[in-house]
Amino acid sequence: MAIFDWQATRRKFLAGGSLSTALGGLPLPRVLAAQKAEKPPARKAPGIYERLGVRTRINAKGTYTYLTGSLMPPEVSHAMEEASQHYVFLVDLQEAVGKKMAEMLGVEAAMVTSGAAGAIMLGTAACVAGKDPEKIQRLPDITGMKSEVIIQKTHRNAFDHAIRNVGVRLVVVETPEELENAVSEKTAMMYFLNAAQNQGRVGLEKFIEVGKRHGVPTFNDAAADVPPKEHLSDYNKMGFDLVAFSGGKGLRGPQCAGLMLGRKDLIEAALLNNNPHEDTIGRPCKVGKEEIVGMFATLERYLKIDHTAEWKDWEARLATIEKTVSTVPGVHMGRFTPEVANHVPHVYFQWDEKAFGLTQAECAKQLEDGEPSIICLAGDYPHGLSVTPYMMRPGEERIVARRLKEIFTAAEKKVSA
Ligand SMILES: *Cc1c(COP(=O)(O)O)cnc(C)c1O
Repeated sequence: MAIFDWQATRRKFLAGGSLSTALGGLPLPRVLAAQKAEKPPARKAPGIYERLGVRTRINAKGTYTYLTGSLMPPEVSHAMEEASQHYVFLVDLQEAVGKKMAEMLGVEAAMVTSGAAGAIMLGTAACVAGKDPEKIQRLPDITGMKSEVIIQKTHRNAFDHAIRNVGVRLVVVETPEELENAVSEKTAMMYFLNAAQNQGRVGLEKFIEVGKRHGVPTFNDAAADVPPKEHLSDYNKMGFDLVAFSGGKGLRGPQCAGLMLGRKDLIEAALLNNNPHEDTIGRPCKVGKEEIVGMFATLERYLKIDHTAEWKDWEARLATIEKTVSTVPGVHMGRFTPEVANHVPHVYFQWDEKAFGLTQAECAKQLEDGEPSIICLAGDYPHGLSVTPYMMRPGEERIVARRLKEIFTAAEKKVSA
């Protein structure tokens, strides 16, 4: 038998053959030995992305869908893999997972959606068409149904498109009086953007109170609003009828999944407006068994992990970055934690951009174009160029620290020269 040529196998693998094909016929111990024999490069070879020619990035920015959200912990990906190996009735799985999640959170009902945006659309559909098969089939034609959703001006955001998908009209209000006057028999739902809770003229409690008094369901979009984990049930307990979270942001679940939590009758209606029911507005929002099970495993893990220790770890990693960058004269640093959404520690960097001959945007571009590629917060962000270890892989803080130091040092030389 010929001696196994690992390098040739690796070349073949990278050229497009699958690993199992490439190693086919070899006894397992030889395969494992061969795998061990290859020295891992400094950063683990991202096989699939290498094959696709798609660059991997270090995420020093946070949970952004364009940057693929978050990374799933092994508990989640293993559960998804296990789910992928068996058939079940999808409706049974939706129901069972929803029931378990509701129990875990102490909320009335729960379901897995195709992200927070999917929850916004299905929640709206539930409020408009309810469980009526004829109405469900007719959406987004809302003739004869409630046709308006109330939203505060400061709460308007790109994701309210998901409300508008249902065919309703947004009624935009600013003051508590305007809110009060806007409610009518046409009002299907009132939408609240949790991240803007301190920006609107109507706060959480008042908003809920108005909804309750008029019998209009209130929806809180809390997509990016864990940590803390208590938020997962706080808003339902406060009185919101429906609350949405992204699965693939702070929770670190499957990127194309989310949670909708709230009133049983509305969750049941949302499920009827959803896949696998075919002639529904939610049919394109399919969530497979893998994501449904994945969200369950995600929630189990999130409620179990030591969030204090995790926070301390983020702070220690920020300290690593600060220590390295502090060796460059003229770069000022400070920490901040956004109050509501993405409530995790960040560090920002400021310097004399003219004297350094380096703008914030140029610094961000150098980080992005360098090796490895690092994505940070920059631009119109309140504190300017900043990073957070929240979504980094372990150890990446050292790479970020080194690259920042390199870029700042090169620019600073122009000042001291
Ligand atoms: C990210 C986000 C969404 C969309 O969440 P997905 O899970 O990606 O669908 C909706 N609303 C807000 C406020 C968000 O930040």
